[in-house]
Amino acid sequence: MLCPFCKNSETKVVDSRDTNEGKITRRRRECEKCNARFSTYEEVEPLRLSVIKKNGEKEDYDKSKIENGVRRALVKRPITQEKTAKLLGDIEYEIHSLEKPEVMTREIGKIVLKKLKELDEVAYVRFASVYKSFGSVESFKKELDMLDSN
Ligand SMILES: [Zn+2]
Repeated sequence: MLCPFCKNSETKVVDSRDTNEGKITRRRRECEKCNARFSTYEEVEPLRLSVIKKNGEKEDYDKSKIENGVRRALVKRPITQEKTAKLLGDIEYEIHSLEKPEVMTREIGKIVLKKLKELDEVAYVRFASVYKSFGSVESFKKELDMLDSN
């Protein structure tokens, strides 16, 4: 969410209320740089897609699986609940913006890794080791190289 005034990306929600029987959430935001206030309207649109596992099995996208993995990676790290929630929101947003009805677990893993790396190096390494164990196609090393070059 960019500040419409100064284009800064760090904004915080100062008030949030549901309208239209809870289908739309109006959020009052404040830019952390220029302190300007503005509103955003978010429609609830559940992410509906299939996830294809390495073995070819298809399953419904389940947000809580990502959430569990991320929370496990963040155990005892100095990351606030707010930041964790933002991270999860960002991850979901990126998955959504792939605009595909089916997504490989590998793609989701990459997104999670990328976001975790931006937030916390230790959590990133922890998640990467779990990610490796559920089997990426490329080698773990290759993933790391790729992320480092970004
Ligand atoms: Zn601003």
